[in-house]
Amino acid sequence: MERQLLNRALGAYLGFACGDALGATVEFMSPRQIQKRHGVHTEIIGGGWLGLEAGQVTDDSQMSMAVGEAILEQQGWNLTAVADKFVAWLASNPPDIGNTCRRGILRYRDSGILQGEPRADEAGNGACMRNLPVVLATLFNPVSFEAWTLQQARLTHHHPLSDAATLALGRMAGRLIKGDPVADCKLEIDALIGQFGEFAYQPYPGKASGYIVDTLQTVLHYFFNSGDFESCLIGTVNRGGDADTTGALAGMLAGAAYGLEQIPQRWLARLEPPVAEQLKRQTLGLIEYAVNTSG
Ligand code: MG
Ligand code: MG
Repeated sequence: MERQLLNRALGAYLGFACGDALGATVEFMSPRQIQKRHGVHTEIIGGGWLGLEAGQVTDDSQMSMAVGEAILEQQGWNLTAVADKFVAWLASNPPDIGNTCRRGILRYRDSGILQGEPRADEAGNGACMRNLPVVLATLFNPVSFEAWTLQQARLTHHHPLSDAATLALGRMAGRLIKGDPVADCKLEIDALIGQFGEFAYQPYPGKASGYIVDTLQTVLHYFFNSGDFESCLIGTVNRGGDADTTGALAGMLAGAAYGLEQIPQRWLARLEPPVAEQLKRQTLGLIEYAVNTSG
């Protein structure tokens, strides 16, 4: 297995979790509130509205790990297995869960429904935020990538903007992990904006809510306007709003682009050890799966 590939994949998954843990402290705050309270928020210190321990991650990382675990256990795709992991996760009393995710998981648990009708109120970022394990497992298989992505997404979020953003960001992350230059990967986003103009992020409108359009604009603005992992994440989470999710997705892109060694040691060292272990194990297993099934 190519060492650089694994390094960027680890950067993406661990970077994602660092962004989650860093952003959770300031989730749902405005930039002004953050400024008043923290100056610039730069450290993984826990707290926030969830009252987290320093280094604790939230639903973003936990739902991603549920998807990853289902793929590894099945050694392939089984949507029911993914849904069952979500049900078990919900039953474990997680620190937080989005309303749309909860509704979809309960609908599956109580009625066995794996995909509802499209809904206008399902354009949140919950599907996009948990797709990295699919990206890793299907790194060399674009057909599987699209099919698995849409299936896992629509367990809870069935909306054209969520579908398109989850596919585009996943394609971009995958290309970064494979070592494509940032400028080439940006073409995936140009295509998305060509399809749905609302994702245009220049000039940056400045909203960082859980609406998939706001989330993506924030992540893309800070990723493309920074040149290193740390400043990308700090810029992103200090916008507040859905800061753990924007932080996680920015961490995914920056970790994929710059590799594991650019993630500040002080952040990596803060992640809960069992979570960091699981992320590393999943990354190895998912990349191995991707290589073995690449034909
Ligand atoms: Mg969260
Ligand atoms: Mg969030």
